[in-house]
Amino acid sequence: MEFEPVIGLEVHVQLKTNTKIFCSCPAKFGSSPNESTCPVCLGMPGVLPVLNKKAVEFAIMASLATNCQVQKKSVFARKNYFYPDLPKGYQISQFELPLALSGYLEIESDITGDKKRIGITRIHMEEDAGKLIHDSSMPVSYVDLNRAGTPLIEIVSEPDLRSAREAGNYLRQLHAIVKYLQITDGNMEEGSFRCDANVSVRPKGSDKLGTRTEIKNLNSFRHVENGIEHEIARQIALIEDGQSVVQETRLWNPDKFKTFSMRGKEEAHDYRYFPDPDLVPVEINDEWENELKQKLPELPEQKKNRFINELKISEQQAETLTSSRELSEFFETCANIVQDSKLTANWLLGTFLSYLRENGIEADKSEISPEFVAEILTAIKEGKVNDKTAKEIFSDSLNTKKSPSQIIKDKGLEQVSDEGELEAVVDKILASNPDEVEKYKAGNKKLISFFMGQVMKETKGKANPKLVNPMIAKKLG
Ligand code: ADP
Ligand code: ZN
Ligand code: MG
Repeated sequence: MEFEPVIGLEVHVQLKTNTKIFCSCPAKFGSSPNESTCPVCLGMPGVLPVLNKKAVEFAIMASLATNCQVQKKSVFARKNYFYPDLPKGYQISQFELPLALSGYLEIESDITGDKKRIGITRIHMEEDAGKLIHDSSMPVSYVDLNRAGTPLIEIVSEPDLRSAREAGNYLRQLHAIVKYLQITDGNMEEGSFRCDANVSVRPKGSDKLGTRTEIKNLNSFRHVENGIEHEIARQIALIEDGQSVVQETRLWNPDKFKTFSMRGKEEAHDYRYFPDPDLVPVEINDEWENELKQKLPELPEQKKNRFINELKISEQQAETLTSSRELSEFFETCANIVQDSKLTANWLLGTFLSYLRENGIEADKSEISPEFVAEILTAIKEGKVNDKTAKEIFSDSLNTKKSPSQIIKDKGLEQVSDEGELEAVVDKILASNPDEVEKYKAGNKKLISFFMGQVMKETKGKANPKLVNPMIAKKLG
């Protein structure tokens, strides 16, 4: 029997507000344990939460950017469960009336090789819990509540994904969108963009959903794809063996390359949800929604299409250049100065991108500014330096912090395009290689590259090949 995987993702995004969602403690990563806490986020009795307006704005922006219907009225609810990182004994979330409903993203499908629409069921707001730190050298666990009360949105997809790759593509696109919106730092390792994957399989052709498991602990795109891939195979093997899939929560262990059972899956009624009596409903009028709609930046899909249509660069290059807002902006600034999108795209996607990746930095955090790169590219465009020398200048700029034109001057790297100077070199080379000249004249035209090589050697690679080549050919008749 052939099986079809069915996948739905729940994605939590930490919002990059200055303060927490229901109190005025700073919502930042990396303060010392329990430093950023107050009676509200510590869950003391008698305190009252007050909603952070900025968090709602960010959540509305995410909803608009994912084609969701922002709801005129949404309601915070208490999700009750007991855990040491949750001092109130409940998490403030949204349940029956979430902030936004029925959106979608267009993703690339590896199955059809075509575009495909993935439904977004809902987006709701909630608070994050604290963190437990288990130290194996100590007989205790620590509780750090700095994260408690950090604003989150949860984006729940429809079970529309059909392969690990589709899930990865959906997630990458969602990540790019929230990063473009600048509402999160999006760091997956630090947990500010987290994904739970729900996976089931069913006989191909069936329209009934199979029993799902939920995989947690997926803190990179690679882990998401590997975890899902592995879970699909595990479920198929179970069924083929005559057993059945148990609904449960599983953990992905990237070292063992396996998922492990963590706990049975709770049902909604286990949480005894009810509207939080301490918070009034959130009302969003058209005026506010429209104001935020106006403020939305150009999103990755739109930008990609503009790059393809207006700047005439290939789809694949546009895809990579728009994969991060920082890189796309770096590219545009640079291409505007150089006035050559193709040259800029080729260069950024080669030398510059590998430098960024090797150092794990975003384009805007690079020590090299777009103006610097533009200087190098302009030098290439004007025929002052060749590609190889340009790479040298680039790494020198990084090491010495000198501007490219300074380096060109200091090191005498400028390409020789002076015809008189080049002619003298060519004459010298031809005079000192009479045998090769004879052979060339007798018909061995391939020797032209030998002469070119000699000229390059003589000029330490600085001769402008576009001028030298015809010069040699002409001199040899
Ligand atoms: P819960 O919090 O109980 O996991 P949610 O509604 O928040 O419930 O999320 C359920 C997620 O699981 C959604 O992304 C949904 O698309 C997905 N899902 C539901 N049923 C299945 C199934 N049988 N197979 C795969 N995914 C599923
Ligand atoms: Zn607080
Ligand atoms: Mg779930």
